Amino acid sequence: MTLLHDPVTRTQAYFAGTWHALPRTFEVRHPGTLESLGAVADCGPDDARHAIDAAERAFTGWRAVTPHGRGEILHRWNGLLLAHREALARLMTLEMGKPITETRGEVDYAAGFVRWYAEEAGRLGGERLPSRAAHKRAMTAQEPVGIVYAVTPWNFPAGMITRKAAPALAAGCVMILKPAEQSPMTALYLAELWLEAGGPPDTLQVLPASDAAAFTAPLMEDLRVRKLTFTGSTAVGRLLYGQAARTIKRASLELGGHAPFLVFADADLERAAAEVVASKFRNAGQTCVSTNRVYVQREVAQPFTEILTRLTAALTLGDPLLDSTHVGPLVEQASLDKIGRQVEDALARGARATVGGGVRDGLYFQPTVLADVAPDSLIMREETFGPVAPVTTFGTEEEALALANASEYGLAAYAYTRDLGRAWRLADRLEYGIVGINDGLPTAGAPDAPFGGVKNSGIGREGGRWGMEEYLSTKFISMGIG
Ligand code: NAP
Repeated sequence: MTLLHDPVTRTQAYFAGTWHALPRTFEVRHPGTLESLGAVADCGPDDARHAIDAAERAFTGWRAVTPHGRGEILHRWNGLLLAHREALARLMTLEMGKPITETRGEVDYAAGFVRWYAEEAGRLGGERLPSRAAHKRAMTAQEPVGIVYAVTPWNFPAGMITRKAAPALAAGCVMILKPAEQSPMTALYLAELWLEAGGPPDTLQVLPASDAAAFTAPLMEDLRVRKLTFTGSTAVGRLLYGQAARTIKRASLELGGHAPFLVFADADLERAAAEVVASKFRNAGQTCVSTNRVYVQREVAQPFTEILTRLTAALTLGDPLLDSTHVGPLVEQASLDKIGRQVEDALARGARATVGGGVRDGLYFQPTVLADVAPDSLIMREETFGPVAPVTTFGTEEEALALANASEYGLAAYAYTRDLGRAWRLADRLEYGIVGINDGLPTAGAPDAPFGGVKNSGIGREGGRWGMEEYLSTKFISMGIG
């Protein structure tokens, strides 16, 4: 199989009104085989400066387009994304190794945000306020924040972009996007379709860069860039948050997670185990809301672990381009090394692998269940981002809550129980931005739901009306009427 020059690949950067093949490039490789997909234009700080100038010009025109008019273009973008579903899915699978059945679903997920915000654009407006003075009238207007700098990860190469770009563009903002080094081609493809839909030049500029820090510096220093929106690791999010402070940029941060999954003795064990599998092994566990630690009430730990083991053993690990594959390769060697370290540490502290447990070949890690995991193991504290489900036990509801909340992260948490009172108590007391009660995939296919975390998992929300507010600024207007 030769993947170089596959018809779906894209290599030129888009900024300052045109497509650029630059003298400097970096290679993108398929993690399944490590074959090259092509050499992508590598943008530097000067290109970032050109993009800011172009964005400033584009913003003047774009904010003047009526919200309805912006919505029309977003509607056409949505149609094009769906028309290019198979090509986009193939490109994502080639770039980062997610199974093709999942990347097809990701195109639908990504397009779902575009459609939602296409409709929301027409609902923008302000409020008439009751004035305290009889000779004045007061109102508010919602205005676009301005130029937005977006930095996105590789694990959802399309979804993490449209979840930001669709509300930003609907609000009247313009965006400069730096995609992840592993998945720049999908981002370029999205920009191409945006232009084809009638998106004006430079409203969505996409600049791949291999030196993320150097490329980002001019954008963070420039006062004209009014907002940072970032999805990625907590470490990088913290760094950028600090940089954003210097020019008081608005900031939205979607960061790491370490989701607990609680299974109570009264739960439907078969369903709970199936949802752990769905939450843990999709995208080979490389999802910020993936279950990272499973806590099972002691009396059902054995039957639950047996079911989880059976379901995990039935997953097919293999070529992500095949429809029959459930779990593909990991994105890079560093991920494999981290997962290997976590598994070794758990085994050394007394855990046992009931299925899987190691590398098969290349970047393929076997879907794994670890039983009897010591609560202080590395894997119970550190984000895994891989296909390993560690299981441990608890006694009481209080103990389960304490274990679940004992984390620096607060993105997503799950619990299975048939007790209605307990379900409410857990929903109230789990310190997370997203809680799934008897639901292991609460935000799947839901562009209208607020997505985001608390604590070190970030600030701000994406999706629904909350996602739009991140790109709007409220202006107060008071008018004397004599
Ligand atoms: P990452 O290393 O933080 O990278 C994310 C993005 O930041 C990439 O585009 C990366 O560019 C860029 N970057 C890295 N260092 C930078 C710097 N000094 N200045 C500016 N940009 C910089 O994260 P990752 O490993 O790719 O992604 C996985 C993480 O994302 C996990 O922690 C996961 O939980 C989190 N995530 C969170 C959500 C959510 O919604 N909360 C969703 C998905 C993923 P390069 O590619 O060039 O390094």
